[in-house]
Amino acid sequence: MSLSALHRNETKKSLSEATFDLIVVGGGITGAGILLDAATRGIKVCMLEKHDFAYGTSSRSTKLIHGGLRYLKQLEFGLVHEVGSERAVVHKIAPHLVLPEKMLLPLSGGKSTGYWLTSFGLSVYDWLAGVRKEDRRVMLTRPQTLKAEPLLNSKGIIGGALYTEYRTDDARLTIEIIKTACDQGAVALNYAEVKSFVKENGSIKGVECIDGLSGNTFQVKSKMVVNATGPWVDQLRLKDGSLEGKRLHLTKGVHIVVDHQLVPVKQAVYFEGPDGRMVFAIPRDGKTYIGTTDTDYRESLEEVVTKREDVEYLLKAVGYAFAVSGVSIQEVESTWAGLRPLIHEDGKSASELSRKDEIFESSSGLLSIAGGKLTGYRKMAERVVDLVVEKLSVEDENIFGDCVTDRLPLTASYSDLDNFLQAKANFLKNGEFTAQKNLAHRLMHTYGRASEKILDQSRLIVSSDPVTALLKAEVMYGIESESVEKLSDFFVRRTGLLYFDLPKVTATLEMVLKIFSERLNWSADRIQQERGDLVKLMTDARFGMPA
Ligand code: FAD
Repeated sequence: MSLSALHRNETKKSLSEATFDLIVVGGGITGAGILLDAATRGIKVCMLEKHDFAYGTSSRSTKLIHGGLRYLKQLEFGLVHEVGSERAVVHKIAPHLVLPEKMLLPLSGGKSTGYWLTSFGLSVYDWLAGVRKEDRRVMLTRPQTLKAEPLLNSKGIIGGALYTEYRTDDARLTIEIIKTACDQGAVALNYAEVKSFVKENGSIKGVECIDGLSGNTFQVKSKMVVNATGPWVDQLRLKDGSLEGKRLHLTKGVHIVVDHQLVPVKQAVYFEGPDGRMVFAIPRDGKTYIGTTDTDYRESLEEVVTKREDVEYLLKAVGYAFAVSGVSIQEVESTWAGLRPLIHEDGKSASELSRKDEIFESSSGLLSIAGGKLTGYRKMAERVVDLVVEKLSVEDENIFGDCVTDRLPLTASYSDLDNFLQAKANFLKNGEFTAQKNLAHRLMHTYGRASEKILDQSRLIVSSDPVTALLKAEVMYGIESESVEKLSDFFVRRTGLLYFDLPKVTATLEMVLKIFSERLNWSADRIQQERGDLVKLMTDARFGMPA
């Protein structure tokens, strides 16, 4: 079923009328992976998401599909092997969205043992992760390291290592997986909160939902339910009456965004802060984003925000590692804060906790998946759906297929990226969008194959300039094909503009609001509410400072 805000009522009707094999609660990357895996195996599956798709941690990560070098340090070889190998798979199924990125690891300290240990460690990492020859680590001398990254504070640098990771957009990856699942027959609804479970003789047979937009309640019937709610996993286990044994341990991670000219790194750098913690500085779209923090979190799950001290911590790390002339707190353009849904281990600090995933099964039949990484979403989904298939097969005549998601390109996937960009570059040279080549690039890496459709639609829009027409076409595409229901869905999770181009959000807010209100028939109250909500998000992104 298509993902369209214009077909919300039909989607709700199909949810209330059918009996599903499986309900996935939670529309982050974990739920998205399960939805797609299940749909491709012939399981009748739906997804219910309380906010927008990717609203939780899956739009607030470091946005890397990475092998997890730090897990090698923690001797988690199995995890390094799994997430390391998965990088190549995710790159293959979504080449427009998962891009190789050279990462520099500067090494400092008086002794050369650190240098040789890192060299050895990275070779093990390459081997465990099955890294392609051209992507394997290269060790650099001190002069080579400083040449690769002249911005580094040279004091104490003894050398470095250059290796390959993959950069992505977490929220876009999530939505593309959900779209692909819907093409395969799945049904997905955002702003649909699971309030309680429907049980018969103690076994879960469905869920009670509330529509976050209309306030109506409805029931969805199903043979099985998977709880893939990330940081909210224990809340759902509590509703099920099965919150016992292992529990979540939430830690908060913050990223800050500054103009690239202020921290002009030549490539991504994985550097050590003054307290010995590792931090990323990653160039993207004319900005550099820096993160992350890792602190225990016990506050509200609904309002996870950046605090001034988080920003100060990251700026201190930047000042320690790079020869920059003091980036001021006012120069931080935007930020985001997310929660790691880790599994608690007695006596371990936030940074020491394992990122491994685990499945909990309750006596009512609820399967809860906790922990894990963006990078490992596909393998996590495979494990969950294998279990679902095992259980469904006991009571069902149906034969379900094997996991195929490692060879199923996502709907928007575009393997011939160079040809597309060339074609668009030629198109651009032909008059329209003069000097807007970056736009074609951004469009392609955001929407993949669908960028053709958006460009075509933009040509039909009467507008004073093609850039405005393109933005209008993006908004319309979002509403019609990606279930964009609120301003924040568009500005935060479909385009990332609130993180990476806040001035553009301010400049286009009223125009975008007008399209929404016309397309979705918003009342004056709703318009006011949406404007207020977005302004609040912009203030939060600026940790309370005016945008
Ligand atoms: P979420 O994305 O939080 O999704 C859970 C969803 O469930 C939410 O959208 C929520 O609204 C919904 N929900 C909750 N309750 C209900 C309900 N009652 N009914 C319906 N829906 C409900 N991993 C990497 O691989 N690479 C990285 O670079 C990386 N960086 C990270 C940086 C930070 C700062 C953090 C915090 C994590 C990072 N991770 C990274 C880890 C990764 O982002 C997470 O493991 C992953 O996004 C978790 O996804 P999820 O789907 O389990 O949870």
